[in-house]
Formats: sequence, structure tokens, C-alpha cells
Amino acid sequence: MKHTAYIALGSNIGPREEFLKKAVALLHQHPSVAVTDISSIYETDPVGYTDQDAFLNMAAEVKTSLTPFELLDLTQHIENELGRTRDIRWGPRTADLDILLYNRENIETEQLTVPHPRMHERMFVLVPLLEIYPDYEGSCDHAINREGVRIWKQRSGVDEFVRSEN
Ligand code: ATP
Ligand code: CA
Ligand code: CA
Repeated sequence: MKHTAYIALGSNIGPREEFLKKAVALLHQHPSVAVTDISSIYETDPVGYTDQDAFLNMAAEVKTSLTPFELLDLTQHIENELGRTRDIRWGPRTADLDILLYNRENIETEQLTVPHPRMHERMFVLVPLLEIYPDYEGSCDHAINREGVRIWKQRSGVDEFVRSEN
């Protein structure tokens, strides 16, 4: 498990917390992925397409031996498993898993861009990420504005997430 990646998770179709927990558990269940840290859960106002319910967002740190593309496959598989459908761009979803960072790699392909191209302007992504990876703030030019990103459930041990679902 020599690679470290950070994943942003979001849900705005209920049961939102269950979808997030299930997504973390499914990541951890993969034999080549270990979830090593998770942020608090935040409730955030929708950005972009604003005519939809509030999101729950969080970030997870994973150690993995998967390549970035294999990790993308896994995250998309988990989204599908959790009933994700794609109707409206940036619209309501049961689970969205975005790969934010993969080691310090820069990847630019049609299928995958890492660091995630829109993460730096999204406080609903940066606030949870900085909670588990505070040093990243130095690599990020954007001022952090916590408005619209409210703590919803304090960070708890990763165990609670990976044990609760099977
Ligand atoms: P956004 O990417 O702005 O957060 P979204 O999450 O709603 O929007 P999706 O419909 O989930 O967008 O994904 C669209 C495509 O983005 C995926 O099929 C995937 O190939 C591509 N993609 C590119 N880079 C990444 C990344 N770092 N993490 C996840 N998906 C990515
Ligand atoms: Ca997204
Ligand atoms: Ca996505």
C-alpha cells in the first residue's frame, strides 16, 4: 500500500450519512485499499446547481496499491453500487467520490485529472481535506472561507466507519 490518496465524498440524497459511511466501508473492504483517516462530516450549501438539497461532505485518506485509474474505477463502482444516477451535471446524488490527490502526481487525461481540477475553489472540499491534511494549505493558493460549510458531525475514529457496515 505504498500510495497515499485523498478522496472527497459527498451526498445530498438521503440517507446521506448512511451513503457516506457505506462508501467509506466499501473503499476499506477492497483488499488493496486501507482507509487511514477521515474528516468530520460537514453540511454544505449546494454550489453551482443551487436548486437542490444541502450536501453532506467529508474527506478520506487512503493508502493503496491501486494505480490512480484503478482507484477511479473503484470509486465509480462504489457510486454505482450506492445507486448514483447521472441526470443533471452537479445535480443531486446519493454518492460522489472524487479523487483529490494521489501522492504528488499530476495526471491530465480525459478520464482523470489529479489534483482534482475544481478542488481549490470548493470550500466543501478544502475544509474537510485540510482537517486531515493540514500541511496541504501551503500548496493551496486559495484563502479558506468556511461560510456555507458547517460542521455536522465531529470527526470520529475511522473504525466507526469501517466497522459499522458490511
Ligand atoms: P466535478 O468533477 O465538477 O466534481 P461531478 O463530480 O459531478 O463534477 P461526475 O459526473 O461525478 O462529475 O464525473 C464526471 C467524470 O469526471 C468522471 O466520469 C471521471 O472520468 C472524471 N474525472 C476526472 N478527474 C476526476 C477525479 N480526480 N476524480 C473523479 N472523477 C474524475
Ligand atoms: Ca464532484
Ligand atoms: Ca465525481
